[in-house]
Amino acid sequence: MVVNAAAAQKGQTVCVVGGGVMGVCTAHALVKAGFKVTLVEPGGIGDQCSLANACSLRTSSYVPLASPGAVKRLLWALLTGDQIYQFRWLNLVDPLFASWGLRFLGAAFTEEVRQRGTYFLRTYSPLCIERIHEVAVQEGFGDDYEREAGGMLNVYTGTAASFKGAAASADASRNDWGKQCFPLDAKQTVALEPSLAAVEGKIAGGVDAREDEHGDCGKYAKLLWRSCEKQGAQLIVQKAKKLEVRTSSAGTSIDHIVLEDGAKVHADHFVLSAGAKSAQLAAQAGVYLPIYPVKGYSLTVPVVEGGPVRSLLTFEPMQMYITTLGKNRVRFASIAEFAGQDMSVSQSCVDEIKVRVKEMWPNVPFDWTKADILVGARPMTPDDMPIISGTKHQNLFINSGQGSFGWRLSYLSADILVAAMTKVPCSVPESVCNSFNLSRFQSMRATG
Ligand SMILES: Cc1cc2nc3c(=O)[nH]c(=O)nc-3n(C[C@H](O)[C@H](O)[C@H](O)COP(=O)(O)OP(=O)(O)OC[C@H]3O[C@@H](n4cnc5c(N)ncnc54)[C@H](O)[C@@H]3O)c2cc1C
Repeated sequence: MVVNAAAAQKGQTVCVVGGGVMGVCTAHALVKAGFKVTLVEPGGIGDQCSLANACSLRTSSYVPLASPGAVKRLLWALLTGDQIYQFRWLNLVDPLFASWGLRFLGAAFTEEVRQRGTYFLRTYSPLCIERIHEVAVQEGFGDDYEREAGGMLNVYTGTAASFKGAAASADASRNDWGKQCFPLDAKQTVALEPSLAAVEGKIAGGVDAREDEHGDCGKYAKLLWRSCEKQGAQLIVQKAKKLEVRTSSAGTSIDHIVLEDGAKVHADHFVLSAGAKSAQLAAQAGVYLPIYPVKGYSLTVPVVEGGPVRSLLTFEPMQMYITTLGKNRVRFASIAEFAGQDMSVSQSCVDEIKVRVKEMWPNVPFDWTKADILVGARPMTPDDMPIISGTKHQNLFINSGQGSFGWRLSYLSADILVAAMTKVPCSVPESVCNSFNLSRFQSMRATG
């Protein structure tokens, strides 16, 4: 259903389910569009995946996970026991995982699907990051989400030959797309990150990506929610349990949401932004969302002498992010664990991160006893692109499935959602917005 923009100004009500960065940005964009917003969130605002992540806001990486390279890496991990990818097979005996997995493979090997995702990320990542900061400035909290626009250094371990591809793609990013990405040799890499001097022999090269930035995503969600509340949005600290569908001659719509304590929340419109749980909720209303949880971990410890100098680093191919947040905290984030809905902390994943940190900083005494260990479920779609869309129910919308790019895509996704609801165009062309429609997965059945 198209929501009349003028009607929105008259204060139609919207219930947003999920208070991660996606739900909060959605709530904020809706408030700004004139809606009365209620947010349903059982825990702390921004305390799930949005808190656990690596906090990077990159314009220099723009390839969705669903790619032949990722499939190769997954297979390699299975064959060699590489612990970056971990599988809890018992939890994966599940038709949802099977159908998601098959579609992931389909997306990875379909050139058109990959090109679409790459095009979007390459073209719109700068705007994504600009919107996040612009809104923070408008709401008066500026850089308070530990924002730092100091670029990113990607460090590649392995042989010089293995680095050739990364150097070539940095050159192509710069020459073809104007990205400020510069390949470096091992010496130049260590000159930019002197704390790695002890392991220079392991380094094949680096890429200096000067436009990347970072900020604390969980903190951003909390600060932005404060602004929403000041502008009249309301919070219900409860879990949404059920969506009740109503049928009329005009079609079907959501009548209300039932909360865990049995109370009902009525609204004119409903938006699901419940991260990796969005699929479970939508399934109750017969809407199939191919969103699967892919767990990741972060360990945050106090900054110590000898540790990273630059505030944003990655290590490849070990796929680890190192982010310094403010002056006192350094975060190590990595791992893709396929464990269904099990959100428990797996010690082997935690240990794997520590092992990799030790490999790169063998002599630095990071204090793991003080580590804040967080786990988050990336809400992944098969093509690693979000679902920002209406549904078969007239007043049910989805803004979820941002996967490994959720912090980066957060506010622009909210802009696109509001445009989809109100039909008032946003800064992204309609044809591009339409590529996030749920209908791209139309062949999929409702389950659950
Ligand atoms: C290790 C790691 C590193 C990452 N690094 C980056 C990065 O550097 N850059 C980047 O852009 N992205 C990154 N991501 C991805 C990013 O963190 C996610 O895409 C993003 O946080 C998803 O936000 P969300 O709001 O959809 O989900 P969440 O933050 O998980 O929020 C969902 C919310 O919904 C609530 N909820 C669930 N069920 C219900 C219910 N029934 N009723 C009401 N509420 C409910 C939950 O309590 C939760 O608060 C990373 C992820 C991980 C795990």
